Amino acid sequence: MRRPKPLWRRQLAAALTPRRRLQVFDGDTLPARLPRLKVALARDDGEDWSIGLHCPCGCGQRLELMVLEGVKPRWDFHLNEAGHVTIHPSVWLAAGCRSHFWLRNGKVIWCE
Ligand SMILES: [Zn+2]
Repeated sequence: MRRPKPLWRRQLAAALTPRRRLQVFDGDTLPARLPRLKVALARDDGEDWSIGLHCPCGCGQRLELMVLEGVKPRWDFHLNEAGHVTIHPSVWLAAGCRSHFWLRNGKVIWCE
């Protein structure tokens, strides 16, 4: 596993990365290969199941967040008018790089 990058490096990368938009995939599971700088959504028959993205610290970890009604833990997401994704609550990884961040209007905001 790669060591987590210092906060200033992650903030710089966040500033230089385009705002993340949603890419919808048909079915109740996410694709094996997630889009690199987008947020993937698995939508089956109009029902949203989970969203997926690569950990923005650059560690390569695949993050899958359930958005299906009634499951726990569960995240909410919405799109602004430009199609940029906001995820609520924050994402906090218990293992690996231990990243903790918000995604707001398509931008990663690091917590420390
Ligand atoms: Zn990471």
